Amino acid sequence: MTYREMAGAMSTNGCTSKPGKGDHEKWYCPCGQHMTVVTRPGIVSPGLVREAIRRLVCLPKGWLQ
Ligand SMILES: [Zn+2]
Repeated sequence: MTYREMAGAMSTNGCTSKPGKGDHEKWYCPCGQHMTVVTRPGIVSPGLVREAIRRLVCLPKGWLQ
C-alpha cells in the first residue's frame, strides 16, 4: 500500500498527522487515544499497514480497503 493511499484513508476518517523522526509520520485518530506511525513517501510496509489497522481501533471497520 502506498503512503498516499494510507494518508488519504486516514484523512478521510478524521485522523491528523504530525511529523516524526526522519521519514516517519505520526497519525492520530479523531478520539485522540490511538496513534500509529507510517513512513513516507512511497510504499508503507505490510507490517505497518497491519499495525495501523490494529492500533486505530476506533475507526469504522474496513476503513483501509
Ligand atoms: Zn481512537
